[in-house]
Amino acid sequence: MTWRALTAALPSHWTTRFAPAPTGRLHLGHVLNAIYVWGIAQAHGGHVVLRIEDHDRTRCRPEYEAALLSDLAWLGFEPDTIAPPQRDRSGRYEQALAALHKNGLVYPCDCSRRTIAGDAPEVPNEELRYDGRCRSRNLHETATLARRVRIDDGVEAFNDLLLGPQVAAPSLQCGDFLVRDRLGQWTYQFAVTVDDLDQKIDLIIRGEDLLSSTSRQQHLARLLGRVEPPRFLHHPLLRHPDGTKLSKSRRDSGIAELRAAGRRAAEVIGLAALRGGLLGDATAIAANDVAQFFVL
Ligand code: GLU
Repeated sequence: MTWRALTAALPSHWTTRFAPAPTGRLHLGHVLNAIYVWGIAQAHGGHVVLRIEDHDRTRCRPEYEAALLSDLAWLGFEPDTIAPPQRDRSGRYEQALAALHKNGLVYPCDCSRRTIAGDAPEVPNEELRYDGRCRSRNLHETATLARRVRIDDGVEAFNDLLLGPQVAAPSLQCGDFLVRDRLGQWTYQFAVTVDDLDQKIDLIIRGEDLLSSTSRQQHLARLLGRVEPPRFLHHPLLRHPDGTKLSKSRRDSGIAELRAAGRRAAEVIGLAALRGGLLGDATAIAANDVAQFFVL
């Protein structure tokens, strides 16, 4: 399948986004994602929105945000539009929650992680499946800030532009969605879905580690009134030469460390492309040349 065939389903003017969370410094994994986002946009007429995903106020830091913007500019990836950060969008998330509430889909939930986990084994990095026990408890609105959205047992299907047909049932994955936690923070799934809707994102390009979120976001988007769902492309994650997954703590993959070691931006982009399997040899590639991976 060619890239031209893969992107044929997109409208003639389309929008994608680069959406880092300022919870740490940028690393080569972000650069690989930027190569896909800007490369596909450059090759197939897309518009890139930069969105700072700082919905989790306990983990995000202004210094990470500043560093992230500086690293991105140093690399040479320039967005066409900068979206408002999520910290400024609380009023809009409230409004989206109110619309779901009006449809009878929202209820307060004061279950702790421990209550939900019960005796079930924890799966690392996976949300626990919630069994819906607060659905019928009629907790008072003031009992907790946490809110869940009721979902049905339906199956969500989508055709990933790289991975092909995907099917998942959010009710089996995670159960009723947590949209606001007990600290009053908007959850990733909710904030991202409202943002992708409002910012008219047509194509979501991200790593395969977020594949399991897609059916949830597609379901939520429909509940929020999105008629045409976005298209999705999940790309392989970057690996170290020894095959292990990249982590923020690894010094050899942080952009700050690579910059400090005297690497040029084009070398760093070439390194991410090499480790991501887009290149066979180490070659320097400028940010405005990344379309070459996605033209055929
Ligand atoms: N903010 C997320 C991250 O940094 C990406 C979210 C998304 O692409 O949906 O991992």
